[in-house]
Amino acid sequence: MLQIYNTLTSSKEEFQSIQPKKVGMYVCGPTVYDYDHIGHARTYLSFDLLNRFLRYSGYDVTYIQNITDVGHLVNDAEVGADKLQQKAHELGKSVSDIAHMYTDSHLEDLRSLNILSAANFPKASEHIQEIVEFIQGLIENNYAYVTNQNNIYFSVTKKADYGKLSHRTLAEVITGTRVDSAKDKRNPADFALWKASPVMSHEFVWDSPWGRGYPGWHIECSAMIRKYLGDTFDIHGSAVEHVFPHHENEIAQSEALTNKPMANYWVHAGMLTINGQKMSKSVHNTVLVKDALKEYSANELKLALYGTHYRKPFDYTKESLAQGVALRHKLFMAYANTQENANTDAFNRFIEALNDDLDTPKALQILSTETNDFNKEQFEQIFEILGLKHMSISNNPALQELVAQREQARSGADYLTADNRKKEIEQAGFEVLDTPEGTVYLSR
Ligand SMILES: [Zn+2]
Repeated sequence: MLQIYNTLTSSKEEFQSIQPKKVGMYVCGPTVYDYDHIGHARTYLSFDLLNRFLRYSGYDVTYIQNITDVGHLVNDAEVGADKLQQKAHELGKSVSDIAHMYTDSHLEDLRSLNILSAANFPKASEHIQEIVEFIQGLIENNYAYVTNQNNIYFSVTKKADYGKLSHRTLAEVITGTRVDSAKDKRNPADFALWKASPVMSHEFVWDSPWGRGYPGWHIECSAMIRKYLGDTFDIHGSAVEHVFPHHENEIAQSEALTNKPMANYWVHAGMLTINGQKMSKSVHNTVLVKDALKEYSANELKLALYGTHYRKPFDYTKESLAQGVALRHKLFMAYANTQENANTDAFNRFIEALNDDLDTPKALQILSTETNDFNKEQFEQIFEILGLKHMSISNNPALQELVAQREQARSGADYLTADNRKKEIEQAGFEVLDTPEGTVYLSR
């Protein structure tokens, strides 16, 4: 039975789906104005693991991940330039070009990381109707108000349990609100649902009952979730930095509209630092997924990340990554050499560790110390759960040809050719090991 930590209750709970053997899971996707960095990868990999483990446990998972292509209010400061517009200006492209370009790049990164595709990647810009209707509902039941500037805000004081997800009191929220928040709010902690279009021209503005404008960030998720997963669904996830304000505002507006619980389990992945430092553009230490994958395989990256529990901070260092590289080698080596083995004890303990709030450090410890206690079938299940890609060279004719050419070159002492073929095989995703018993080709 899966136990999962729920931010809403601050405790580990036994997971019970609303419908038997079916799970609805939503994870907040990126705002598409830049390439995904390794912090994004950590979040999406944490939920890929949860998705895969639920599937292993017999659940039919409907996984939805949105694309925020309306970039006006990405950080809730409600001031400053629109990130997509800014980037469009910088690169001399249109806002929709920017949205397309970085959406494609995001999806490509997910594929490169061997992350299971979501059932749907709804885009905010294609759900304006749902968003407008959602806001109308909130105005009708008195949780939202329209100002004389045609902005619409959610009134946090109307929601008695506002703050319940991030465990803050309303007074704490108000104290923490930026002093430069919009002047037409009734309360500085109120948050925008809709903003009237600014003077500057913008591609992404829409007509609404309140004139031209664009939606706030939080309302996008609430509206899309309701459309794809209903009023109450099972698991809502994202990175821990979204607990407040993003998820606090999502839960407030969704529950204000439906008067039902929004999600039963709120799951949050921990921070990622680079050599002990917060990743930031100003420090120039951002590691893009694409760049990380030039140095490490997706398997190595995953095994490194899963060495730390998903809720704990992960420090991206040469040493932490080296552990992923070593474990990948060890696992695939054992997989290549494994004998028939009927022992299920180690495998069961591996599963048990994951059932305990996805305790990957413990699970990987079992894999690492008891590597020879798994048989092929068990390894294949483990690879599927962890999302490790394992390829076989023997069913690929093009690679077989390279192998044959390398062997021939080696026997003819043509080491330059042999070396070139080896490099080509490596580039195709293999580690080439020449042992006294012959050459072994392991997936990277
Ligand atoms: Zn969201």
